[in-house]
Amino acid sequence: MIRFGPAGNSESFYEAGYKSSVEMPGWLKNLGLNAYEYQCSKGVKISEKTAVELGKNARENDIFLSIHAPYYINMSSEEEEKRENSKRYILESMKAAKWMGAKRIVIHAGSYKKVSREWAVNTAIGVLKEALIEADRMGYGEIAICPEVLGKANQLGTLDEILEMCRVDERMLPTVDFGHLHARGLGALNSLGDFQKVIETIENAIGYDRLKIMHCHFSRIEFTKAGEKRHWTLDDKEYGPDFEPLAEIIYRKNLEPVIICESRDKMAEDALKLKDIFYSMG
Ligand SMILES: [Zn+2]
Repeated sequence: MIRFGPAGNSESFYEAGYKSSVEMPGWLKNLGLNAYEYQCSKGVKISEKTAVELGKNARENDIFLSIHAPYYINMSSEEEEKRENSKRYILESMKAAKWMGAKRIVIHAGSYKKVSREWAVNTAIGVLKEALIEADRMGYGEIAICPEVLGKANQLGTLDEILEMCRVDERMLPTVDFGHLHARGLGALNSLGDFQKVIETIENAIGYDRLKIMHCHFSRIEFTKAGEKRHWTLDDKEYGPDFEPLAEIIYRKNLEPVIICESRDKMAEDALKLKDIFYSMG
């Protein structure tokens, strides 16, 4: 089953008088959505009590939960301490996911400046392997770590780098952020063929079964020559990419991804628009 939902809480959620993320699952179900990415991007601060309550509400409303792990994870840092901390943030995110019953955590692999790309990738993979061993030991084995395709040129996270990381363990899934791909490629996603190439690359690297259930982020995005600059909404049509070609491929290839909308402020409203575009394909 394909799922659509927002990254975090829309402005309209608060404007309607809601205050707590534990109320999101019911609100989303009413809208017609069925996924929610809880944001721990500034740190894993949620209490066990809140996480358990959020998880219960999600199950009752059939909302698929994922967690966005802290932005400051940097598995390719030259400093060992930062790499150790990164592993800790991954495990903390998994602990919160376990409390909630969330099935996936999305992570940013890191960035690099002075070292080679090979060093950065291999170092990140080393940290990832250690995190997976720890995660199994701590009972988080059923939660998928989903490294994200990132939008800035200096970040570790091209599609190929992310797929290389996903080959470490078959439970891992890529977070394919189509806005980031577009931005990093300086406007790379336009035609159906452009999207097809991305989907084929994923399938060739990790197979159809994982492609089918991949994690996706989608928003229109502004970029400079350094890549990602700013997320926009679906109505801001001067920025790409369009969702229609992707929807067509998802439909044709019978994919069942989780699609998280990262439009600025209107992520829930726009997730609904993505859903409508997809179902108009049939
Ligand atoms: Zn992200």
